[in-house]
Amino acid sequence: MVRPITHRAARALVVALLLSGTATIGVVAQTRATTGGALPTVVVLATGGTIAGAAASDVQAAYTSGQVGVDQLLAAVPQAKKLATLRGEQIANIGSQDMNDEVWLKLARRVNELTAMPDVAGIVITHGTDTIEETAYFLNLVVKSRKPVVLTAAMRPSTALSADGPLNFYNAVAVAANKDAAGRGVLVVVNDWVHGASSLTKASTTAVQTFLSPLTGLIATVAYGDVDWNRGPIGKNTAQSEFSLDSVTTLPRVDIIMAHENMDGALIDAAVAAGAKGVVIAGVGNGNLTAAALTTLTKQAKNGVVCVRSSRVATGRVGRNVEVDDDKSGFVASLDLNPQKARVLLRLALLKQRTNADLQRLFAEY
Ligand code: ASP
Repeated sequence: MVRPITHRAARALVVALLLSGTATIGVVAQTRATTGGALPTVVVLATGGTIAGAAASDVQAAYTSGQVGVDQLLAAVPQAKKLATLRGEQIANIGSQDMNDEVWLKLARRVNELTAMPDVAGIVITHGTDTIEETAYFLNLVVKSRKPVVLTAAMRPSTALSADGPLNFYNAVAVAANKDAAGRGVLVVVNDWVHGASSLTKASTTAVQTFLSPLTGLIATVAYGDVDWNRGPIGKNTAQSEFSLDSVTTLPRVDIIMAHENMDGALIDAAVAAGAKGVVIAGVGNGNLTAAALTTLTKQAKNGVVCVRSSRVATGRVGRNVEVDDDKSGFVASLDLNPQKARVLLRLALLKQRTNADLQRLFAEY
């Protein structure tokens, strides 16, 4: 059923788009998944995070992530059972600062298995906020389905006064069960905003409104389960992605090195000595670094280490051949990807031998 946009939802959308820097407002359609008949089945894969965190009191900052199991999470939001038939699985129960390749591979494989089942309409993944953008982008590249895969999280533990997890979870289920959610890539739902995996970034260490999609704006907003779609995904993703985890047991090492005043090349050399096949520079400004670091980076690029220039700046594109001659040095520019996402793409890209031109194409397409 397509319903006219409500005044409140329209206002929320405009505010969201203004705050997230989106220039154009697309066609807005408000839809609800539950139009009668059988409810869609949504599988909840829990990985831990603050949404599953617990503190000794409801008004203290200190807490531990990953304390509450998936059954308790589901039981805490009985309202979500009106949106979808829910099944839960515990993939891990960790703070997402401890996210690792083992959990990533297990999670991605399970999402691929579940989305291939005809009775599964969508997936919700509960996750910590610290690395949710990396996990979402990883899944965006390796999940082989157009079905909705929606990550959600919380900034306040489940025991906190005004915990944000329950409504985030409810909204994530609503998005995963929404009939118009398919084909938009992996999504992240936090604090009423629906982000695309390639665009979101964590912007505040403590605020409930921590996630922004600064370059491209929001894919949708969601208010108490009502989803207002704004746009499709940016960049190739999921079913169209050329990346696959078939027969992959390990991912190549890629390190991120932050540029700064008076930087030398010691950490670049150290990363390569530790086994890095690629290095992502979180450069100053438009992916810049000191002349000394540039000399070392060029040397490593000539030795076959893939060197990607990204930026430590929160928003903006890193273009090719602006102040650094990428052609001459053999570098790749990260374009719209921040360092943490550039690292994810590069790790998958390095599963096979590629030319620099092909690597640059990947950064343009994904
Ligand atoms: N450290 C937590 C985590 O990423 C923070 C959170 O979830 O908000 O798991």
